[in-house]
Amino acid sequence: VWAILVLMIATSQTIVAQNKSISNPKIEALLKKMTLEEKIGQLNLATYVNENNSTNSLNDQIKKGDIGSILKSNGAKKNYDLQKIAVEQSRLGIPMMFQEDVIHGYRTIFPAPLGESASWNLQNIEMSASIAAKEAAAGGIHLTYAPMVDITNDPRWGRIVEGAGEDPYYGSLVSAARVKGFQGKKFTSGENVMACVKHFAGYGAALAGRDYNISDFSERTLREIYLPPFKAAIDAGVESVMCAYSTYDGVPATANKKLLDDILRKELGFKGMLITDWSTINNLVKIGAAANQKDAVLMTINSEVDLDMTSGLYLKYLKELVNEGKVKVAVIDKAVRRVLIAKQKLGLFEDPYKFFNEAREKETLLNPKHLEFARKTAVESMVLLKNKDGILPLKSSVKKIAVIGPLATRKKDMFSWWGGDYSQGKPEDVVSLLEGLKQTVGKDVVIEYAEGIILEGFEPKGLELIPAAVKLASQSDLVILALGEEYWMSGEGGSISNIDLPGAQEDLLKAIAETGKPIVTVLFNGRPFDLQLVEKHSTAILEAWFPGTMAGLAVSDVLLGKYNPSGKLTVSFPRNTGQIPIFYNYKRTSHDVNGQPNPNRWNNKYLDIPATPLYPFGYGLSYTNFEYSNLKLSSETIKKGDSVEVSIEITNTGKIFGEEVVQLYVGDDVSSVSRPMKELKGFKKIGLQPGEKQKIVLTLTPSDLSFYNQDMKWVLEPGTFTIMVGASSEDIKFSKKLNVIETK
Ligand code: BGC
Repeated sequence: VWAILVLMIATSQTIVAQNKSISNPKIEALLKKMTLEEKIGQLNLATYVNENNSTNSLNDQIKKGDIGSILKSNGAKKNYDLQKIAVEQSRLGIPMMFQEDVIHGYRTIFPAPLGESASWNLQNIEMSASIAAKEAAAGGIHLTYAPMVDITNDPRWGRIVEGAGEDPYYGSLVSAARVKGFQGKKFTSGENVMACVKHFAGYGAALAGRDYNISDFSERTLREIYLPPFKAAIDAGVESVMCAYSTYDGVPATANKKLLDDILRKELGFKGMLITDWSTINNLVKIGAAANQKDAVLMTINSEVDLDMTSGLYLKYLKELVNEGKVKVAVIDKAVRRVLIAKQKLGLFEDPYKFFNEAREKETLLNPKHLEFARKTAVESMVLLKNKDGILPLKSSVKKIAVIGPLATRKKDMFSWWGGDYSQGKPEDVVSLLEGLKQTVGKDVVIEYAEGIILEGFEPKGLELIPAAVKLASQSDLVILALGEEYWMSGEGGSISNIDLPGAQEDLLKAIAETGKPIVTVLFNGRPFDLQLVEKHSTAILEAWFPGTMAGLAVSDVLLGKYNPSGKLTVSFPRNTGQIPIFYNYKRTSHDVNGQPNPNRWNNKYLDIPATPLYPFGYGLSYTNFEYSNLKLSSETIKKGDSVEVSIEITNTGKIFGEEVVQLYVGDDVSSVSRPMKELKGFKKIGLQPGEKQKIVLTLTPSDLSFYNQDMKWVLEPGTFTIMVGASSEDIKFSKKLNVIETK
């Protein structure tokens, strides 16, 4: 038997080796022609911002074959010119790959990812990524550094805006949808770009919410929380992965063999290009993980990281390391092969200029259809947090509206950090809230505006403007108050220590509240804020996030009832900074009562505030009401290989059409390791006419009930589970027990 096995393995290895060259003879032939220097050049991802201390200009470096890819490009024309140098003037004419951060749109800006995730509309999410890809490709981009799939529950961390919130299950679905949207079916169509899922892994755990800080968490947390969205991206065919700035288990993610080799390559089966983050090779020295830059290069290449983003250190040291016998040429070949295969998939060897067509760029960017879709996805992303006495949608009796707050006229602040400075998004394309309202309210409604305060950073400014705003409010039927943050306060390096609304916004709110006029607060922001005061003083609250290019029109659609809001939070909103981290899928403690805080002292709670969030995960209101009834399980028991159907009926009991996100949660009653009280395992977004009833069916499989045991084995344990269906993670309407009877 052994002999046969050995023979089989040997034969299969020969087949694999043969396949490599047979399946890709062009790449193998090219590789043979390349000098070591040219190979290393292919691993160098340079930028216009020259950080690599080279005295050569970018053009000269391209001619020499020292640059394989370029980051942060500048439109089709400029990319075309650079590509021409690579193709016509470098020895082998290998085309370059252009890479860029296309995070939530290229020129047409969609809602920031955290906002868009609140739509729970995976088709929309896929579509906006696909439009972003189409525009980016027309602008000469081949690869986007997106999606960012870092799970986080820390609103202090500015990059929370870039992800899909706190839940690994939902985050995985969004991750796959965005990868599919960007990549489409065929790169050679020139309408898709490669996706680069980031940041591998655990960057969202930045300690104290401070960007670039170390992360410190267990292997269990890595597996339960941080890895699933990466696995989903890989299963969806993502072509590249970016390493994180952070450390995992004390070792920087960029040179973490366990993370990159054992987990990413071997366990998750990732075969594509692995890219460092910005200069992270050099960071190994700064962190004290490598004695010098050369050692840092050695550690990185030996972790099979293919592209060096902007440090220029592969270019500087790899050759020396090969000559000294410390790095094998075979290791370099492996990396180069992955880069060349990516270029081949993009069709660059057939037509290196395919993506650079100025006419197409002109026609594609800001195409009216894209703008229409940006409006659609923006309205669906908005979350109605409060609507006392049904004040929204605005009634026809409202004839005079005071629009107050600096964000009501801001344009760039309708983007996030990545939609503003790091994309082709242009503030002049944006419809502000004030403009949007004026265009849509109708002739018999008067709209007047007061800035109220000055929002420029965190210091309270412009208090002297408050009286004029108060006067305007008191002369109006209703106030629309625009609050939130400036675009640059979120995103990379956008950490804050205190999640109060910045500047003098709360002073403005309190002063306007004194008038007794109804206040409809519209929030523009990329993170949960402490909204206790906003909740206290507002009649209605609409969380609009950073809505993108169509901001003002989209908010107006919701306020005026042209769209009935359906968004639900994908991140818990803490009551205040001290509650961080707070998330719905917490694990049971000995001092909970049914998982809920108990009024007596000896409990897992705070003395000063409730332990629950202000607005929980999954929460969001509608202008209509939904009634849940008749929860049924197709079976009370489940065993390996089975599945169980969970059905429930939903009725629209209100007067207008509305959409509801029905959520399915699961909790393990007794387990060998501590498990969350509730974990999202399914959902469905449905639209119902008034009076309409629909039965929805969601399927649970044993995998939805499985978890990592103490030996980090993925297991199904016997016993009962609580199956819950509800309108949010806290608003559970019905629950039933499901018994796992056989696990083998
Ligand atoms: C960020 C990445 C980004 C890269 C290139 C880094 O600082 O962490 O997310 O893709 O810059 O702009």
